[in-house]
Amino acid sequence: MALQEHNYWLTTVEFPATNASLPLPEVVDVAVIGAGFTGLSAARALAKRGAKVAVLESETVGWGASSRNGGMVLTGMKLGVNQLISRYGRELTQCMYAASLASMDCVEQTVREEGIDCDFSRSGHLEVACKQKHFDDYARQAEVIAREFNHTLRVVEKHELSSEIGSTIYYGGMVDEVSASCNPARYVAGLARAAIKAGAGIFEHARVQTVQRDSRQGEAGWKLSTSRGPLWAHEVFVATSGYTGRATPALQKKIIPIGSFIITTEVLPEKLAQELSPRNRMIYDSKNYLYYYRLTPDRRMLFGGRAAFFPENDQTVRRSAGILRHGMIGVYPQLADAKIDYVWGGTLDFAFDIMPHAGQMDGMYYALGYAGHGVAMATYQGQKIAELMAGDKPDNPFVGIPFPGAPLGLYNGKPWFLPLAGAWYKFLDWVS
Ligand SMILES: Cc1cc2nc3c(=O)[nH]c(=O)nc-3n(C[C@H](O)[C@H](O)[C@H](O)COP(=O)(O)OP(=O)(O)OC[C@H]3O[C@@H](n4cnc5c(N)ncnc54)[C@H](O)[C@@H]3O)c2cc1C
Repeated sequence: MALQEHNYWLTTVEFPATNASLPLPEVVDVAVIGAGFTGLSAARALAKRGAKVAVLESETVGWGASSRNGGMVLTGMKLGVNQLISRYGRELTQCMYAASLASMDCVEQTVREEGIDCDFSRSGHLEVACKQKHFDDYARQAEVIAREFNHTLRVVEKHELSSEIGSTIYYGGMVDEVSASCNPARYVAGLARAAIKAGAGIFEHARVQTVQRDSRQGEAGWKLSTSRGPLWAHEVFVATSGYTGRATPALQKKIIPIGSFIITTEVLPEKLAQELSPRNRMIYDSKNYLYYYRLTPDRRMLFGGRAAFFPENDQTVRRSAGILRHGMIGVYPQLADAKIDYVWGGTLDFAFDIMPHAGQMDGMYYALGYAGHGVAMATYQGQKIAELMAGDKPDNPFVGIPFPGAPLGLYNGKPWFLPLAGAWYKFLDWVS
């Protein structure tokens, strides 16, 4: 088949029908903005507790990063543990790491409870070292993680690496057996079904334009204007991640939208697929400008990376197909003749400190900043913030940590500095 500029996962899924023709309710307890993992996980948890919830989505269910990602359900955070400990201290970092492990269980439990057919499997992840010094650091990291967080990672020497990956370019690897894989589009569709089953209303093509404080019959709340009409809510949960826009300007200034792109090959012969990834791991490399890759359940190689820093558009997607194919053949020369069937892109949400953040800003609840680790953490934060809104006091180490904006406040939500950041990361990969 000819190359399709289309998200492969969408060919594998059916989304639930939503309230396409119904008017928005006049009043709800909670308006959730965004129907991805964060928003739908929150909507499910809130509706299960009896809240009247409206999920407002400017496009369609899962349209954002949640249907476009690699489906790697990963332990840990984007930043390394030593950096986390030096920034937040041992105790808080221990809580953050524990939350990252709990987020894995949260996804597994949700999938089980709701019977979501999304190929969830604890297949483990493999990080591969692009330089000898990156590999040397794995043993130190594994030691800290075992000692401080009671979690075991296995360091794989170069000579043993063929049992994990059919590529000879790496200096060794590190395996975490707890990480998992899923089909993200089926997962987000399943979360939407679960939210609807719990009683939440999902309203597609309802772009939130403004959110203003308002009082109604003596009660404090929020007036939202949307492309499907107005709505009044006691509370608002902003779950817009990399697509955060002008409706919530304070959050928009805190988040850098960064493009990430993926290709998938044609379906590969069984023997070749087995050779490329004998244990079916979720794989990523040790660079800043990294590649991540895995087999899909129907045996395509899915290969992703930051082929362009700017978010997805026709040009960046088209250019990415060639760049990623070149990168893939660099890792796997065996795929030189494999046809590329699909290419697509999506937008990641990076905070300036590369950390997840959650809590309240200007009176609205929010959770974002997952920096490419959002499948598990977004599900978890959606649930935790729902618990907070319901009046519980859940442990959540990402609430209340400093949430820095751009240095000198030089950012209005338009990431003019992305080409510079892209060049900087390439430079770091060269020297570090
Ligand atoms: C290409 C790619 C690969 C990735 N791979 C992985 C991976 O393998 N593993 C991993 O853990 N993470 C990965 N991620 C990150 C992960 O997908 C995200 O962190 C996660 O999906 C975030 O979910 P979310 O619900 O917070 O946001 P999203 O799924 O992005 O949803 C936000 C939604 O908000 C809606 N919205 C925005 N503004 C408004 C408005 N004004 N009104 C109404 N709706 C609005 C958008 O339309 C969008 O649907 C990847 C991301 C990308 C782009």
